Amino acid sequence: MSINLRKKKAESAALEAGVDALLVTHLPDVRWLCGFTGSSAALVLCAGEAKGSKANKRAVLFTDGRYTAQAKAEAVGSEVIIATKSPLLAACEWIATAGVKRCGFDQTQTTVADLAAMQKAVPSKLRKSLFVALEPLVAKLREIKDADEIAKLRAAAALGCKLFDHILSYMQPGMTEVAVAAELEHRARLAGAEAMSFQTIVASGERSSLPHGHATLAKLPRRGFVTLDFGVLLDGYCSDMTRTVHMGRATSEERNAYDAVLEAQEAGVTAVRSGVTTGDVDEATRSVLRRAGLAEWFTHSTGHGVGLEIHESPRLATKQTQKLKTGMIVTIEPGIYMPGRFGLRIEDTVLVTRSGCEILTPSPKAWIEL
Ligand code: ZN
Ligand code: ZN
Repeated sequence: MSINLRKKKAESAALEAGVDALLVTHLPDVRWLCGFTGSSAALVLCAGEAKGSKANKRAVLFTDGRYTAQAKAEAVGSEVIIATKSPLLAACEWIATAGVKRCGFDQTQTTVADLAAMQKAVPSKLRKSLFVALEPLVAKLREIKDADEIAKLRAAAALGCKLFDHILSYMQPGMTEVAVAAELEHRARLAGAEAMSFQTIVASGERSSLPHGHATLAKLPRRGFVTLDFGVLLDGYCSDMTRTVHMGRATSEERNAYDAVLEAQEAGVTAVRSGVTTGDVDEATRSVLRRAGLAEWFTHSTGHGVGLEIHESPRLATKQTQKLKTGMIVTIEPGIYMPGRFGLRIEDTVLVTRSGCEILTPSPKAWIEL
């Protein structure tokens, strides 16, 4: 049922944006609006109620012959048309003959080549007026998760926590980063994950100073940090968490840096609440690191939305004025990276509530020495 509600919301947003139909081509948006998970699709959502119009309140999913059975099985509340050309072109031709007057498309998901092909697919007299470039409208709606999505994101996050538990007992000095990543990913698949939600980060020793240090053949040191940032894709939804552990005894500088990042991360989590701006949450983490004299090493933003995609709107970054809302699921992930020395990050995924937030990745964050 939730899909029908999502469609209604998208239709209202389309009408508000001054268009009577939407052409949706970004696959996660298509999936969110009609349930179809195939890799080739264009969805037309007609919001207008022009009498006698062929477009009247219809939702039509265009895909290709490889997906005939799958589209029929998965698509909810949408008719399915199997295109003999590209689904995008078939959708445009359909739009042109269905009586749609102004069809919005997401300008951030449409290439210059796509737009040229879209224009070419419709009669020349419609070219000026038919297609209207819009800001991402479905992505905006997807910021707030419904009950079904929250349940799936909760399950994905819980699996992430289970994997972290396991990997702690597996990691040994001298083992390669790739071996750690492989064990994590193997266990994830056995637990039902479709894939990892992004390339697993295992950054050890000096490599921990790389914010996105993908696992390499480097060996875990006897003494030094190991940052693990990973996520699973479970039932279409992503998990995302980071923990940094220390192999062997730490220096007091490493220990102090960890304490500061942990304090910053917890300050960020504490700041999360419906109505607070994402910029304020960013400032909550950054100000702790500023006081600790470490802010110059915090070189990325505080967090991002998570859902069908690993990085979604909203962005939690400096000076952002967007407000958090109940039902958003975002990460809080401050870190510091001192080139050639060491780095660390701690990341939770949290569900925004009216009075605060619920941490979906409650794995321990206190200092861990292996
Ligand atoms: Zn992450
Ligand atoms: Zn993240």
